[in-house]
Amino acid sequence: MNKKGHVLNGVLLAIGLGYVLEPAGDVATFRTIAATLVPVTLGALLPDVDTAFGKHRKTLHNLPVLLIVAAYPIYFGNLQYVWIGVATHYALDIIGSRRGIALFYPLSSTEYGFPTGVTTSSTYADAVTVVVTIVELALIAVVVHVVPGLLDTAVESLPYAVENTTNVFS
Ligand SMILES: [Zn+2]
Repeated sequence: MNKKGHVLNGVLLAIGLGYVLEPAGDVATFRTIAATLVPVTLGALLPDVDTAFGKHRKTLHNLPVLLIVAAYPIYFGNLQYVWIGVATHYALDIIGSRRGIALFYPLSSTEYGFPTGVTTSSTYADAVTVVVTIVELALIAVVVHVVPGLLDTAVESLPYAVENTTNVFS
């Protein structure tokens, strides 16, 4: 995927995140879009820096790079949401383009990709980008809104009541 595709993906993903995380469509929704738009788009552009430094689709297209970027908010308290842009860049390169990416670089140079992709110059590239973004948002919505409810149901169905446990220290 080219820069245009990655920017389109990052911008649409941030707008979608606003509505998934704050569905009311009010100030909180637009605040979330504003908070994620620039970091996610920057993250979506980061991996292709390896066209100039290192080997393209390898040096900055692997899981160790994603882990390092994702660790920044935890260890340094900055770069929140940038990892989402990096992750969606990988997803788009794997699903949406013919050539894969070297997920386990530098351990392995093997490039992983789906055979379903289109070439970056294809007239379908933008459509594929939009479809991949919609699928990503659907998965995020399931994780944010459905999984917690399933966990609650699973806990409630356990053969003992957690809240009725007597506290021996009181
Ligand atoms: Zn790339």
